Amino acid sequence: MANDDKTRAAAFSQIRQFGDPVLKEVSKPVEIDDELRKLIDRMVIIMDAADGVGLAAPQIGILRQIIVFRLDKDLNVLLNPKITWKSEETIVDAEGCLSLASLAVDVERAKEVKVEGMDLEGNHRVYEQEGIKARILQHEVDHLEGKMVIDRCSREQRKDLMGRLRKMRLPGED
Ligand code: ZN
Repeated sequence: MANDDKTRAAAFSQIRQFGDPVLKEVSKPVEIDDELRKLIDRMVIIMDAADGVGLAAPQIGILRQIIVFRLDKDLNVLLNPKITWKSEETIVDAEGCLSLASLAVDVERAKEVKVEGMDLEGNHRVYEQEGIKARILQHEVDHLEGKMVIDRCSREQRKDLMGRLRKMRLPGED
């Protein structure tokens, strides 16, 4: 169920938006401590309040290799994630981003991926996913490398997206 506008707006006020230079930076690995646990709690609250399915730490201005995401509603936390395998087969599909006001563009992604990292208990975790789940993982890992969907879509899609963003930022001037 979607959150009300006020809840969503409060969450978005904490999410860095396209144009913020922090979104182009590369994140550093993390170690588990209480501060990290607190940060992750905060990330999950923001992701859920924004009706997102994934959030990477740089999106709230923290350049650390942390992603939180939901697969079939189950919450996942992955630290220092790396894509260790990608299928050659790709799929083009619409993909939104909380740092682009949730606007979607068509992005080509590997159909299947293997992503490895660490959970909050320090266990090594391996995710082998396909389709939309593989897409979510690739999207969030991209954020840790300073990449966004806008870097991966076609020129036409980018133009269209920029137009839509401009309209949102300049209401009444269209
Ligand atoms: Zn994103």
